[in-house]
Amino acid sequence: MNRPAPRRAAARGWFAGLVLAGGLAHAGPSASLVFAGDIMLDGALGRLVAAGRDPFAAVAPLLRADIRVGNLECTVATVGNPAADKRYTFRANPRVLPVLRRHFDAVSVANNHSGDFGRDAFLQTLDHLDATGIGRFGGGRSLREAHRPLLIERGGLRIALLGYNEFMPRMFEAEADAPGVAWSEDEQVAEDIADARRVWGADLVIPVMHWGWENELRSGPRQRRLARRMVEAGADAVIGGHPHVVQEVEPYRGVPIVYSVGNFAMELSDNDAQRLGWVLRLELDERGVAALRTDAVRLDRRGLPRPAADRASPCWRRGDAGVSDCSFPGGRRRGSSVPRDF
Ligand SMILES: [Zn+2]
Repeated sequence: MNRPAPRRAAARGWFAGLVLAGGLAHAGPSASLVFAGDIMLDGALGRLVAAGRDPFAAVAPLLRADIRVGNLECTVATVGNPAADKRYTFRANPRVLPVLRRHFDAVSVANNHSGDFGRDAFLQTLDHLDATGIGRFGGGRSLREAHRPLLIERGGLRIALLGYNEFMPRMFEAEADAPGVAWSEDEQVAEDIADARRVWGADLVIPVMHWGWENELRSGPRQRRLARRMVEAGADAVIGGHPHVVQEVEPYRGVPIVYSVGNFAMELSDNDAQRLGWVLRLELDERGVAALRTDAVRLDRRGLPRPAADRASPCWRRGDAGVSDCSFPGGRRRGSSVPRDF
C-alpha cells in the first residue's frame, strides 16, 4: 500500500537539500536501477553476437547500476514455429544469453512477442534465462508464476518487479496450468502490487508495463488511468514501453510515471522517432524513487544502440512538481518531456 503521505512530505525538504548539496548523499538503504526498453536479439543483432560482437558495448557505461533490467522482446529458443497470423515473429539463438547476462540482471517477458513461437519456445526461453542466471518477471510456467514478483535485494532494499502486457489482441496469457505472460487486468495489477509488500515483503514495488499505441509520442487515457491506479495501489514507479518511441514522464503523488522508454536494441524501425530510446536510471531509497534520469540512445539501422548525449531527455527529483531536461538539471522545468524536434 502507499506509505502515508505526511511521511513523504516531511522527508521531502531535507532530502531535496541533500540531493542538491552533492548527489544522493543518503545514509540509509539505497540502490540504483537502470531500465532499458525493447531488446530484440533476433536478426541483425543476433548475427552480430554470432560474429563475436557485443551489441551493448557502446552503451555499457549507461547500464552500470546495482540492478539492470530490460524488456526482452523476443523468445530465446531453438524450438517452435512462427505464429502463422503474425507479421513479425522473433526468436533469438541461445548464444545471445551470455552477452545479455553481461549487461542485465533481469528481464520482463510481458510483451507481445514472448508467444511468437508457441508455448514450448516460451518454456525454453524461461529455462534458458533461469540457467543463465537472468531473473525474469511478467510471465511464467503458470498464471501464479506470471503474476509473482521478481524480488531483488540490493543496498538494504528488497525490490519487487512486476510485468504486464496489454497489447491487444489478448493472447498468450498464462493460465492456471499453462505458461504465458501476465495480462494487465486492473484489479489484479492492484492486488499484485499490494501482495508484493504484504505477502512477499518488498520494500519497493515497480510495475513494468507493455502498453500504449505504437508511434504515439504521448501516453493515452488508458495508460494514464492505469498508471494512477498503480500508484494509488502502492507502486513506487511505473515504467512503460512498447510504443517503440519515447513518451512523457510525469510525477503523480510524488511517484514518477515513465510512459515509454522506447526502443533499446531493435533492428526493425521505420521512422526516426523509433531510433531514439532512453535508458532510465532510478535512484532508490526506502521511500521510493529519490531521483530519476534518462540517457538518450540512438539506434542505427541494425538496431545497435549508441549514446546520444546531444538529445534532451527528462530528469526528475523527489519533490519536483514536473520534470526538467537532464542537460539543465534544476532548470528549464516543464510539465512534460516529449521531445520536440521529431
Ligand atoms: Zn511490443
